[in-house]
Amino acid sequence: MTRLLAVLLLVATARSVGAQVTPIPKWVEQYRDPSARLIGEATTNDFAWQRLAVLTDRFGHRLSGSEGLERAIRWAVDEMKRDGLENVHTEPVMVPKWVRGRESAEIVEPGWHSIVMLGLGDSVGTPAEGVQAEVLVVKSFADLEVRAALAKGRIVLFNVPFTTYGDTRMVRTAGPSRAARHGAVAALVRSVGPTGLRTPHTGGLQYAPDVPRIPAASVTGEDAERLQRLVDRGERVVVRLQMDAHSEGDVESANVVGELIGRERPDEVVVVGGHLDSWDVGTGASDDGGGCVATWDALRIMKKLGLRPRRTVRVVLFTNEENGGRGGLAYRDRHRAELPKHVMMLESDLGVFRPTGFGLTGSDKARRTVTEIATLLRGMRADMIGPVGGGADIDPSAREGRIPALSLEVDGDYFMVHHTPADTIERIDPAELAQCAAAIAVMAYVVADMPQRLGE
Ligand SMILES: [Zn+2]
Repeated sequence: MTRLLAVLLLVATARSVGAQVTPIPKWVEQYRDPSARLIGEATTNDFAWQRLAVLTDRFGHRLSGSEGLERAIRWAVDEMKRDGLENVHTEPVMVPKWVRGRESAEIVEPGWHSIVMLGLGDSVGTPAEGVQAEVLVVKSFADLEVRAALAKGRIVLFNVPFTTYGDTRMVRTAGPSRAARHGAVAALVRSVGPTGLRTPHTGGLQYAPDVPRIPAASVTGEDAERLQRLVDRGERVVVRLQMDAHSEGDVESANVVGELIGRERPDEVVVVGGHLDSWDVGTGASDDGGGCVATWDALRIMKKLGLRPRRTVRVVLFTNEENGGRGGLAYRDRHRAELPKHVMMLESDLGVFRPTGFGLTGSDKARRTVTEIATLLRGMRADMIGPVGGGADIDPSAREGRIPALSLEVDGDYFMVHHTPADTIERIDPAELAQCAAAIAVMAYVVADMPQRLGE
């Protein structure tokens, strides 16, 4: 009896805590019905997942400069037209073409092992016969500085375990040139991602302008640890690295744009989007085919339901996020005069797992309004508004135009498959992708339709 009472008390306490959340504000009430329709249309079928499966099955990878990306761009234009979107067109962007070619790495001393690796994007290649050298393993940039005198003529391995993407990514982007500064002949970087099933993660590097460009590759956590153990035992460890990687200059690509033109203020724009390019391993299902399909689906659903908001909603599938960011820069430059009319920009590029809400970079006023709109997503538990939003593609425009910038936030292990051969459709749950599309649709629709401009 006493126990039952205690349990009842606990439940009552939990309820009263739960009851403190924002009630649905009056002005948002009018959007209850359209929101329910948008959510219903998105979540009662697997349209988005099927579309993503076509995108990831039909064209191969979508690295900038690849035939796969250009075919996917043409397909997206055709499909947007089929959806009935308006003003569907491409906006040309020059993008860098980097080609991986054949590549391999192996331990040749003290005993032979293959190394599971992926060359880093924009890396130079090795001579045809490869580079063979003794390995210096370092655990951080500081560790490299301490042992800088040992780096000359060596292959430097940065064995830095993954913490967060923001923190660990620096090792990949800046590590190769740091090693080159001390005379290293090549660099290996432990994959920027949690150690999984011996899966390497690629990603871009950034060469410093004033040091020689050395070939660089990521290796799996398991391979990095083996090299670490060998070296720790005082063994002389020799690795051979062979990479055909090279750049072929700039080629033409494009951003894909489609719209639902606003019924009252067509010149005011809400932008949603993701990036259509991917790395050349896997099929970019999570990064960022899913973000493209989820944001695009928001417009498709509005169109299908006959919900035309006051302002224009525009979907942009950006090109070249991964190794250049040229699509986002080109959008900013091309639409510069129109940026003051951009009411909100939203990017989905953190995966399309169960949505939890949105990150927002914007004014306090915008935050209040977005938080109120998100009450419509409480039934899906997608109503959290985080302190920072945006994305690599929308940030150049959002910064210059001081436009409220949102990112779709999700609960899922994005960095497990990020930039790996395992980034395939199998990792994506149709119901979760549909919920992502629903959450984006509701947020974009209400911001585009509400009488006041977001942030005013
Ligand atoms: Zn991405």
